[in-house]
Amino acid sequence: MKVLREISEVREARKQCRSTLGLVPTMGALHEGHLSLIRNSVAKCGETIVSIFVNPTQFGPNEDYEKYPRTVEEDLKKCEAAGADYVFLPTNEVIYGTEKPLVTLNVDKELTSVLCGKSRPIHFNGVAQIVSILFNIAQPDIAFFGEKDYQQLTVIRKMVSDLHFPLEIVGVPTVREASGLAKSSRNRYLSESELAVAPNIYKVMNIIKEKAEAYRKENKTVSVESLENEAKKMISELVPGSKIDYFEIRSTKDLGRNEDLSDDSRIFTAVYVGTTRLIDNLYIGK
Ligand code: AMP
Repeated sequence: MKVLREISEVREARKQCRSTLGLVPTMGALHEGHLSLIRNSVAKCGETIVSIFVNPTQFGPNEDYEKYPRTVEEDLKKCEAAGADYVFLPTNEVIYGTEKPLVTLNVDKELTSVLCGKSRPIHFNGVAQIVSILFNIAQPDIAFFGEKDYQQLTVIRKMVSDLHFPLEIVGVPTVREASGLAKSSRNRYLSESELAVAPNIYKVMNIIKEKAEAYRKENKTVSVESLENEAKKMISELVPGSKIDYFEIRSTKDLGRNEDLSDDSRIFTAVYVGTTRLIDNLYIGK
């Protein structure tokens, strides 16, 4: 496995690649979720490049950019063990240069003023910017993203379609701890007592999923809002010290409201456990 730090090195690797190139963009502090993306790429593509870059433009002023975990040495070992061919480890300067960019991306509010976009207004613009820069640098045939960040996956799919990026996006299912807690680089911020209660978020999501499916089976009208309120009440009780950012059931397709569950639906939630913001989502179906 080769570590690449300069854009010219990535371009050379792309040029030398005689088969399909898979790209796995990450911010490092790698865990089994990231490794699942890498393994998917290795299985599907001739060569795989993992990027590790904590992207400053997707963090708001009071978010955790400075304290975001950085564990490069361990990450490199994990990438190699998962079968990656290259790891791209750029600095801020390599990606963004030293001058303020003239052109940035602005993602329409329709997709980004809801769910995570509501409390993180600049986040998806920063994500679109870094992902499009990485696509332009590596020119992959396929890029792999986790369903864990479902809104991000939706934004990226639409961006690729809108801007005609010549590549395929593959979404990879969320990898969880045995407790059900979605693996996340931010889980390492959780104290022992927070770790003990955080999996209850996923338990509540499953209870709501079962209720929604039962209503549907019996052809009963269901108020999405009452299911959401029920979930919030359960989370407040089962996850002491938590603050719910949102718990919403929305359409899987376009993340629009779906009051009667008639569309293909998904539960989306973001919960602060102590000061750590955890997100998760779960497919409900139609
Ligand atoms: P991050 O390093 O948090 O920016 O994540 C890099 C990629 O890994 C994104 O496409 C995430 O959606 C994906 N990812 C993060 N956690 C998980 C998980 N638990 N399961 C599957 N994919 C994940």
